[in-house]
Amino acid sequence: MEENGTAAKKENISRKDFLSLTGKTVAAGAAGSIALGGLLPNELWAQSTTRAMSPPADIPPGTEDPIVLEEWKSAVDQQSGPTPTPLPPGMRIRYAIVGLGHLALEEIIPALGSCKKSKLTALVSGSPEKMKKVAAQYGIKAENCYSYQTYDQLKNNREVDVIYIVLPNSLHKEYVIRGAKAGKHILCEKPMAVSSKECEEMIEACEAAKVKLMIAYRIQYQPHNRKLRELVQQKTFGVPKFIEASNSQSSANPAHWRHKKALAGGGALPDIGLYCLNTNRFILGEEPTEVFAYSYSTPGNPLFTEVEELISWQMRFPSGVIANCSSDYNVHESRHYRVLCEKGWLNMDKAYAYKGQKLMTAKAEGKMEKQEEIGLAENDQFAAEMDHFSDCILNNKRPFTPGEEGLQDHIVMEAIYQSAREGKPVKLTHNLKSTMRGPEPKTE
Ligand code: NDP
Repeated sequence: MEENGTAAKKENISRKDFLSLTGKTVAAGAAGSIALGGLLPNELWAQSTTRAMSPPADIPPGTEDPIVLEEWKSAVDQQSGPTPTPLPPGMRIRYAIVGLGHLALEEIIPALGSCKKSKLTALVSGSPEKMKKVAAQYGIKAENCYSYQTYDQLKNNREVDVIYIVLPNSLHKEYVIRGAKAGKHILCEKPMAVSSKECEEMIEACEAAKVKLMIAYRIQYQPHNRKLRELVQQKTFGVPKFIEASNSQSSANPAHWRHKKALAGGGALPDIGLYCLNTNRFILGEEPTEVFAYSYSTPGNPLFTEVEELISWQMRFPSGVIANCSSDYNVHESRHYRVLCEKGWLNMDKAYAYKGQKLMTAKAEGKMEKQEEIGLAENDQFAAEMDHFSDCILNNKRPFTPGEEGLQDHIVMEAIYQSAREGKPVKLTHNLKSTMRGPEPKTE
């Protein structure tokens, strides 16, 4: 297994050298044999001391240190953070985006414009006209535009390091495995797949190809949610006891893939309820041992003939915390959670939204209840998660949200569905290792 930046070998390869080696290796690999001592392109990259342990040779020394500006604000105002330290564009990790739908066009591709370690170099789409337009808008070369049929040819493209899968859920497995076989690192949207078995196959394929796999759990890279997790785990408000969490919205198009079981795998649960599940696990740092669930779909509503409308479930954690979660596809948007602790509570409004998180806390102070908002600067969650993955590639680290994180959510979701079907609690006997995560992401 990898990594944590300590396993780098003593070779000293510049990016230019690496790229030329990668090209030769890929060409040889495509011809049925692997050159350069049997190393795959990503191993060469990972084993480059220059990349793994220190800034690449052609980055001027000190580029990664923030520029210190003259202070002028008084201490009574919120201070600005350190100046950003973007990598020079030529040194950034290069992404191919697969599937040009709402998330890719509205969030991910615009976010790449504000990344510091990542950039867009290729597109994959089944809609040539749309792709041509997007390519023109973002300056992507025609030869870096692929269809689903020509997707595997990405293996010959030396201008792509990462493939980011933004397709309907049931297509994730195929495109992750094909992408890994093309020798590219993989970032995959949530939910990771449509079953835990698929997740296992995806993890195995990436391990076999020696490429990194990360699941795009953006909330785990979001400052307010990270701060709440820190306060809970430090027991700032005493021992956490109970969590209420809900992520709900409405939808209107029964023809959309989200309402087709074969493409979505399920309804509200894997699409949005997953945020309650994943964020609870993240903030507690524990794995549920038992779940109990109810599910409901309004009879005759064409939106919910194949997938569930409402799912509500409880999870029991080893520390004794019980989380009460719900997700509905047929109500006005509402995304929040509250952690009740012995000496106070922490509340997150707009918890799982793309922006606008509001973190409130409460505790007793004498005869008063003191409620406080913790004001933090917002980030672009998509840029943060992509830059984390790029950082893992540049420094040969395991991602903070690796494939096993997605697998774990699928194991719990399967137990939730089983409980809703059978009308009784379901125990979870798996024993997930806390070491599955890579190091905490760097924050700027
Ligand atoms: P969209 O339906 O908007 O886009 C999906 C794209 O996939 C389509 O535009 C299409 O792109 C491509 N595609 C390929 N095959 C099919 C098919 N059979 N049916 C439909 N589309 C197909 O979905 P989203 O962008 O909302 O979601 C994509 C993924 O991102 C999902 O896994 C979802 O769960 C996840 N997601 C994550 C979010 C987050 O916050 N992390 C938020 C929203 C979604 P093309 O025409 O280019 O081929």
